[in-house]
Amino acid sequence: MNRNRSAALYEASREVLPGGVNSPVRAFGSVGMPPIFAARAKGSRIVDADGNEYLDYISSWGPMILGHASSIVHQGVEEVFDAGISYGLPTGKELDLARLIRELYPAAEMIRMVNSGTEATMSAIRLARGFTGRDKILKFEGCYHGHYDGLLVKSGSGTLTFNTPTSKGLPKAMIQDTLVAQYNGVHELKDVFANMGDQIAAVILEPVAGNMGVVAPTKEFLQELERLTKENGALLIFDEVITGFRLGLEGAAGLFGMKPDLVCFGKIIGGGLPVGAYGGRREIMEHVSPLGGVYQAGTLSGNPLAMHLGWNLLNHLKADPGIYDRMEDMAKLLEAGLIDAATKAGVEITVNRIGGMLSPFMTVGPVTTFSQVMTSDTQQYEVFFKAMLEEGILLPPSQYEGWFLSASHSREDVQRTIQAAQIAFQQVKE
Ligand code: PLP
Repeated sequence: MNRNRSAALYEASREVLPGGVNSPVRAFGSVGMPPIFAARAKGSRIVDADGNEYLDYISSWGPMILGHASSIVHQGVEEVFDAGISYGLPTGKELDLARLIRELYPAAEMIRMVNSGTEATMSAIRLARGFTGRDKILKFEGCYHGHYDGLLVKSGSGTLTFNTPTSKGLPKAMIQDTLVAQYNGVHELKDVFANMGDQIAAVILEPVAGNMGVVAPTKEFLQELERLTKENGALLIFDEVITGFRLGLEGAAGLFGMKPDLVCFGKIIGGGLPVGAYGGRREIMEHVSPLGGVYQAGTLSGNPLAMHLGWNLLNHLKADPGIYDRMEDMAKLLEAGLIDAATKAGVEITVNRIGGMLSPFMTVGPVTTFSQVMTSDTQQYEVFFKAMLEEGILLPPSQYEGWFLSASHSREDVQRTIQAAQIAFQQVKE
């Protein structure tokens, strides 16, 4: 495949953008090749700057649940442009989207719109601290909640660790109250609460992890989270930036029959435009400014374009919830095809799948913890990724990301992907 134009754009971009990109994973660093530059996309297909077409499993990291350039999502967008796209005043579109989110996700009794998932989690943490009057936050290793300082922390392997930053530039003071435990680590969770339960403002988690690859929570882990937060007066925050409206109309909360105190959204609720939101119990949300003393604001928050696209998308999902079953059917087919292709080639893989999101880990499995994720052979994933790309299949350029299906991924698309995987796994084996 000729990628000269992408290569030239990358060279030129590196001159003016750090690493040539505006978000690190786009640099393809984990798969040891220069990035491809997108030119356009429609449905499940994406076309690069050189005119090569790929079947896309990145789906803009989640928002493109109806496929790219969806006429359903874009409907009426020109009227929004004509009416003006930002006023510094509230609009009815914010109300419409907030009401729709609340209808579909009842735990979000009140909602505040922001501009990204990072803003949503950052603001939810501030609110939890303001509401409880406590400082400590518990997060889990391998869960990503955006690049807010206080959450850019992970633990060392296995045991509970404090304050190991994921990034430079984090003053100690910013992270000294961030505790980290193992995802699905029930014993650790109990230990943390036994030692510090009365100091913890909130526990934040991805209710299905998508940022260490896809890892589902165990039932016991969720039950203990619910019990311990409640008993200790800590808030439970679901970061549903990925899972919200992806795992069903009520996200992971609906899937697991849970009701978090606070929830963070992003991605899908903006239909592909920059957006985020946090919401939750009314008595907590009433602490947000201007009603309460927890300050949070945004010049472009709730902008009409993002609200419009988000409403179009969620309203369509509401009208046709069968989309979730159809996506899951396609994802199941893909899961089975990947396992079959890997087995025939003699490659060890473990596929974690939930609904329409999945990750094949290059390891024996099971993969239910961050430590197990880390046993994956990333070299093998790199070979697999490159071989798939040559076959016209665009996968996430990292072992530690989820693959996202959209409603526009057809049976033929999936079958083509499986055929490509048969070739790619042979190359992994060589
Ligand atoms: N939370 C989760 C679970 C995410 O996956 C992400 C981004 O991928 C974020 C928060 C941050 O969202 P954003 O990139 O919009 O700031």
